[in-house]
Amino acid sequence: MTDPLIFDGHNDLLLRIYNNDVLPGADGFQGSGGRQIDLSKAKTGGFGGGFFAIYVPDSTSLGNDDDMMATSYDLPLPSEIPWSDASKVAMAQAAILLDLERDGALRICKTVADIRAALADGIMAAVMHMEGAEAIDRDMACLDVLYAAGLRSLGPVWSRPTRFGHGVPFRFPSTPDTGPGLTADGRRLVARCNALGVMLDLSHLNEAGFWDIASLSQAPLVATHSNAHALTPHSRNLTDRQLHAIRDSDGMVGLNFAVAFLREDGRMDADTPVDRMLRHLDHLIEHLGEDRVGFGSDFDGAVVPKDIETIAGLPALRAALRAHGVDDALMQKLCQDNWLRVLNLTWKDS
Ligand SMILES: [Zn+2]
Repeated sequence: MTDPLIFDGHNDLLLRIYNNDVLPGADGFQGSGGRQIDLSKAKTGGFGGGFFAIYVPDSTSLGNDDDMMATSYDLPLPSEIPWSDASKVAMAQAAILLDLERDGALRICKTVADIRAALADGIMAAVMHMEGAEAIDRDMACLDVLYAAGLRSLGPVWSRPTRFGHGVPFRFPSTPDTGPGLTADGRRLVARCNALGVMLDLSHLNEAGFWDIASLSQAPLVATHSNAHALTPHSRNLTDRQLHAIRDSDGMVGLNFAVAFLREDGRMDADTPVDRMLRHLDHLIEHLGEDRVGFGSDFDGAVVPKDIETIAGLPALRAALRAHGVDDALMQKLCQDNWLRVLNLTWKDS
């Protein structure tokens, strides 16, 4: 059996394209341009698609990968971005995704059936996701409009604060318990997402916010790109207690490929063996079960182990998984079925 295409929980391709300041269309998506994701690499690596994040960057840099090479670090969190600024960027990035679809580079999927069809047709499957809800207004009119455009997943925060809640800073070592929980608007956002069938993403949220959503949300708890705090005590990773809450809600976690969340020392060093990913995967499976773990690569937004580097390097991960004893049934779950399972439980029209 050939290994299934990988449907993945998180990438930052839209930000990459946005930063190049062009609407690329399918042609721009063909060339490499230093990106970790493009169509030819997808073919080489067996990348089937996944969640494509709309993300509003800061005007000031919060630090860079060099700052995360130290033995410990605590990068300052940028301040809140006003809705009027954020909404322009979010619209531009949503338009980039729509443009890629118009040019036939990918297909925006709004139902599980859409994802299955795209994977079967060999067309990249894209779920529109928003990482940090700065672009959602208090009345949530923007949420309704973006839902109509295809938005099906939303993280109330990237790491900086929003009107809805507080995220974790990039801090190592640190627990995820770094501040207050959801705001009143954040609690309303949970109810609105539940009503629409928009998946709530808990990655980047601090622990108080996590427990607020755990008690409020009707949907399975999902962290699209996070790892095990027991193995890498980074603020961005999930404690065993959080993993058990995710398991009990029948949710799931996407394994993040970013080396800072994989390594024992939390350093952003590409010289990291793929074996660290297997260690985290084992821990996640031990605490969540085989049905509640998938991939959440963070491609185009992170430094990943050098033996993988881009989506063209995914065969190295598959080989490592096979050598680790992953059989056909588990491979199918990790690559596709677990994401489809949780989306089927979360979305209104599956
Ligand atoms: Zn992220």
